[in-house]
Amino acid sequence: MSDRDFIYVCRPQLPEADAIAGYLRTIDARRLYTNRGPLVNLLEERLAREMDASRHSVLTTSSGTSALEVAILAHAGLATPERPLALIPSFTFAATGLAIERCGYKAHFVDIDPGTWAVDPAPLARHPRLSEVGLIVGVAPYGILPDIAGFEALQQDTGLPVVIDAAAAFEQVVTIPAPVSDTVPLSLSFHATKTFSTGEGGAVIWGDRPGQDRVTQVSNFGFFLSRECKVAGTNAKMSEYHAAIGLAMLDAFETRKRDYAAVTRSYEEAAEGRDLGGRLHLPGRVSSAYALFEADTAEGFLTAEAHLLERQVETRRWYEAGQHAQPHFSAAPADPLPVSESLSARLLGLPMAHDLSPADVLHIVNSLAEAATRARPRPVMQG
Ligand SMILES: *Cc1c(COP(=O)(O)O)cnc(C)c1O
Repeated sequence: MSDRDFIYVCRPQLPEADAIAGYLRTIDARRLYTNRGPLVNLLEERLAREMDASRHSVLTTSSGTSALEVAILAHAGLATPERPLALIPSFTFAATGLAIERCGYKAHFVDIDPGTWAVDPAPLARHPRLSEVGLIVGVAPYGILPDIAGFEALQQDTGLPVVIDAAAAFEQVVTIPAPVSDTVPLSLSFHATKTFSTGEGGAVIWGDRPGQDRVTQVSNFGFFLSRECKVAGTNAKMSEYHAAIGLAMLDAFETRKRDYAAVTRSYEEAAEGRDLGGRLHLPGRVSSAYALFEADTAEGFLTAEAHLLERQVETRRWYEAGQHAQPHFSAAPADPLPVSESLSARLLGLPMAHDLSPADVLHIVNSLAEAATRARPRPVMQG
């Protein structure tokens, strides 16, 4: 296998220079570079149209992490001494915990449901530390939307603000019907590793018009209709250059989606009827940025990870062992996390890209099948 090219877990491809050039020339002519310029406005308008949602429900930001931060500041505000805690799942990318910290909250990690991989909202209404909680953050793991109606009800019943980190859920959110909530803001990431990208960027999706005015305000130093800093804020604005990349990406996004669907079909066909020692979770359920292998056992996961690398296939533990296992969060309080721990120890990110060839997909799946025979030694003949 030494002559085979290494297969990377993630190989983003954003619009090329020629596709962006027309937009860039409008920037040159106007000399407006940021502060909610015309290209940002056009990108938000087009995204709102793709969702059949009102114009105000889409506001772009400089990253997915900043989208989460400004959604928290606009909806919950800074943490207070009486209610310093944020209930958040451990099963997510490290940005979720860092964003709540930037807003003054301390993480208390909660477990996820084994079927949905997301936090089950209803039981949180009876969480023993609820009187210390000032914020609840739901996550759309790998782009799988959580129970948004359940989170709306949780917010209604407890009076505690809920925000959903839907960073990887672009296709699940920017669609018709769109899951836009009038009461619970969602944040999206447009990072290069996500399905839709502006290089760096993100958005807050929220049907609440006064809430979105506050998002605009906190994204721009707490200014609103004046240069007075009136509330806790930051600089989370998307630049015109980033919006140009997003507009060019939207221009060709139908083709991109078809390409992802073809790669997904390759995975399905290659895996059909095979014993992989586990199962695949593919786009449709997860974001098109991911193809995941859920090994039956933690041992099977380690064998697959090592064998794929030997076969020139890069893999990734996208959420590592969960946020509670990251050094920075290791002292944070947590509920027992058996589901997060079990899943994190068995879920492996496989290569996914819009232009992954059927031959590469077959090689990846064959390598998984080989690993499965290694992980499961033949039973010794009794005699
Ligand atoms: C990608 C991601 C983020 C971070 O988004 P950035 O745009 O890189 O800041 C946050 N949370 C989750 C769940 C993600 O997948």
